[in-house]
Amino acid sequence: MNYGLEEMYEGLKIDKAVFDYCKDIEGKLKERFEEIDRVAEYNQLKVLKAMQECHVSDTHFAATTGYGYNDLGRDTLEEVYAKVFHAEAGLVRPQLTCGTHALTIALSGNLRPGDEILSPVGKPYDTLEGVIGIRESKGSLAEYGITYKQVNLLEDGAFDYEGIKNAINERTKLITIQRSKGYQTRPTLSVARIGELIKFVKGIKPDVICMVVNCYGEFVETIEPTDVGADLCVGSLIKNPGGGLAPIGGYIVGKEEYVDNAAYRLTAPGLGKEVGATLGINQQLYQGFFLAPTVVAGALKGAIFAANIYEKLGFPVIPNGTESRHDIIQAVTLKSPERIIAFCKGIQAAAPVDSYVIPEPWAMPGYQSDVIMAAGAFVQGSSIELSADAPITAPYAVYFQGGLTWYHAKFGIMMSVQKLFEEKLIELV
Ligand SMILES: *Cc1c(COP(=O)(O)O)cnc(C)c1O
Repeated sequence: MNYGLEEMYEGLKIDKAVFDYCKDIEGKLKERFEEIDRVAEYNQLKVLKAMQECHVSDTHFAATTGYGYNDLGRDTLEEVYAKVFHAEAGLVRPQLTCGTHALTIALSGNLRPGDEILSPVGKPYDTLEGVIGIRESKGSLAEYGITYKQVNLLEDGAFDYEGIKNAINERTKLITIQRSKGYQTRPTLSVARIGELIKFVKGIKPDVICMVVNCYGEFVETIEPTDVGADLCVGSLIKNPGGGLAPIGGYIVGKEEYVDNAAYRLTAPGLGKEVGATLGINQQLYQGFFLAPTVVAGALKGAIFAANIYEKLGFPVIPNGTESRHDIIQAVTLKSPERIIAFCKGIQAAAPVDSYVIPEPWAMPGYQSDVIMAAGAFVQGSSIELSADAPITAPYAVYFQGGLTWYHAKFGIMMSVQKLFEEKLIELV
């Protein structure tokens, strides 16, 4: 029985040809989806266990205001995060306004003038270039006398161990490892590979702080970077761990000393984690974290579905349709600005919010070229919700991610195919 599903899609303006094309591909993904469900089940239990062990109670959902002294909900949530990540401590705050801010705090709290940062995995995310001062920027770490070195990945995506060894010196204080590819076409790093890299670096310099930018990677695997030696792990709550419910926030988990150093920078020296009212959003932060494993599973299914469709349509996709996944981002190289614009229109048209608006490319703060973004999200800018971004520059790759449910992710991807099909920018073969 299909309960009139096909008619439902037709009513939402998906042509039969698009419906059939996508249905055929979905049928072949059963085993992969089952594997994703098993990871989600494991992670669901991991979160549940942490919440039970921390005695999470409805009193933790009460609002605090002002200084926020003794905000039990906040302190317990930080304990829950620390448990899930098997870390000593956590800093999980609405005052961390976004991922870039959380990273800025983790870096500036732990670095002092004369220290050097090393990225052994190539160029960091665009906004981080401004933070570090790779791109000249007011208030950057470079202005405070903190220097930066970078070692690129080798042609085949492997670590350049020789180059990394040569780059580490007596001033190297922290290495930053970006798990996800971000706006690049390099492979995303598995947690296991991150572990190998950390082991190598610690073998050369045991006291170097290994920080992982975990954005888009949380709950994709059953282990996290803190399980393989990361001293700090940082991310955004409007991505995976917020489960779509967190309205704002970032997190930093890891060694207590380093987390405390970050807290002294976020609030003030001497105050640290003791202040920071949560204004009544604790329940959303807890509930979002609770839902995050299944939300991430839905987003992953969407990414794999899209990879297989666009691969069959003849476009390069990263990751490809069959390889293992380490984040929720899917890159599709559509090879023309018309196609990336049509793709984004489809994602927008499929949204529960603002489905009637038409996205257009524009100049965004922190990004070098014009960017087109599609998002019809309940939380503004949330990228665990179905969203797509594309810098308007060759090779015209669109990066998309999210979907609070698999069914929505699926519909969004079908709608992207529909728009490309309508504008005769693809052939369904
Ligand atoms: C999201 C993200 C960041 C931080 O970006 P914000 O938009 O400030 O949250 C940094 N690095 C990577 C790889 C990311 O995915």
